[in-house]
Amino acid sequence: MTSETASSATSTLYRRGFVYSPADPFATAMVVADEKIAWIGSDEAAKSLADGVDQVVDLAGALVTPTFVDAHVHTSATGLGLRSVGLSKVRSLHEALATIEAAARSRAGRPLYAPNWDEQDWPERRPPKAQELDRATYGGVVYSPRVDGHSAVISSALAAASGARNHPGWNDGGLVTREANHVARDFFNAGISPADRRADIDAALSAAAAAGIGLVHENGGPTLSSEDDFADVLAARDRGDGPQVIGYWAELVGDQESARALASRLGARGIGGDLNMDGSIGSRTAFLRAPYSDGPGRDHRGNAYLTAEQVRDHVAACSLAGIQAGFHVIGDAGADTVIAGMRAAATQVGTVKVVAARHRLEHLEMVDAGAIKALVELGVTASVQPAFDAHWGGPDGMYAARLGRERVTGMNPFADMTTAGMSLAFGSDTPVTPFAPWEAISACVNHHDPAQRISAGSAFLAHTRGGWRAAGIDDRGYLDLGQPASFAVWSVGNAPGLPDLSPGATLPATLRTVIRGRTVFDREGALS
Ligand SMILES: [Zn+2]
Repeated sequence: MTSETASSATSTLYRRGFVYSPADPFATAMVVADEKIAWIGSDEAAKSLADGVDQVVDLAGALVTPTFVDAHVHTSATGLGLRSVGLSKVRSLHEALATIEAAARSRAGRPLYAPNWDEQDWPERRPPKAQELDRATYGGVVYSPRVDGHSAVISSALAAASGARNHPGWNDGGLVTREANHVARDFFNAGISPADRRADIDAALSAAAAAGIGLVHENGGPTLSSEDDFADVLAARDRGDGPQVIGYWAELVGDQESARALASRLGARGIGGDLNMDGSIGSRTAFLRAPYSDGPGRDHRGNAYLTAEQVRDHVAACSLAGIQAGFHVIGDAGADTVIAGMRAAATQVGTVKVVAARHRLEHLEMVDAGAIKALVELGVTASVQPAFDAHWGGPDGMYAARLGRERVTGMNPFADMTTAGMSLAFGSDTPVTPFAPWEAISACVNHHDPAQRISAGSAFLAHTRGGWRAAGIDDRGYLDLGQPASFAVWSVGNAPGLPDLSPGATLPATLRTVIRGRTVFDREGALS
């Protein structure tokens, strides 16, 4: 496996496979020339082309699809997780602490990032405590965020150095949410060297390429990353040896001049992404119409980080500037607030300007028919994460624990959204869930709520063309003549169309990823 095996051949015939193309549903062969798709058709017809190309690749039954788009990515945090001690696979608090202790020893006192714990999956049913982190790391600096990133446990050394104790959201025991979490995270991130950060970014983009992803939407922002981080991600893109990147920056603006100035200074496509309307369900910070079922406190409805007026001013400013705006919104009351703000913006600057700017909302997990209708009228794209339903949906999942079973039905309503004519784009929100596009499609086909299942074809479209459209680019993300040669070759095939995605089916593994004619991932020996 190599990350960079740019082919010297200028034209390549791929044959004896299955090419998933709207141009020809039964295509088995494809010619790539000069970074573009030059031809798609049958093996029979390809015979006459074999002599005229520089290279012939035998697909041996493999499936060829356009590369996926991951529309919600935190690139450097993903790489940081890949290069540090992830807790997503540990099965108990005890094991988590042992893992952290081993990592602390091997890192010789350097700050430790230990993300992705989920106390819900552990027999102890609680996160680590600061004193436990202190003991495991001999008093080291540890930042250990929950899987959703909206709360974290920090060591005493980090609590003292960052001043997190003095901010709202601090809990004795080192559990931090809200401002205390942001302060601790910012302090921790500020300690990462630029060289380490660039290595993290490269690791994440390599992982995306290995997953068959050709474009990621980076979600940066002042409370998430930093301008330097954002610039480094875009610089990695500009090298052209990995996935393409479109950047979103989460910072409120008040008028169109500052919207334009900010977007052009940072090279951001849009001013949105994880601009937080609210938090997450796991951390009980998503803003709800009715209280959480499992506390804390009888009336706890989560957190609203923005008012409808702030949403209005931001959306109006971006709409006038012709720049995409967007927000992170998960709870139903959060969606209500965003919709109220967007409608007020439409009243101010005209619905046409709002619709033309093609704003988008991230996550949008709790929207009823009324909210969907309002968002369709405002021309809003839903950037959603099907893996969230797979991980936390259903009558026995974490969402049901937080919200009660009744409220979980109708969450992540992909079928309702599709039927209402809403544009969908899919993402992983990595490091919340990993780069795993086929798992996302499988999650749609096998949605916990049978009424919200959509077809594999619709889901595939949302994870390819939908991701380009979400960034305002309408004519990308499918295999056809003249399109950029951005495609992935997958281990399963042996029939036209998309693979078996029924529960328990083996999902496709990436054999090769090609982006604009350049091979950016190749499984050793898979294709000859
Ligand atoms: Zn995010």
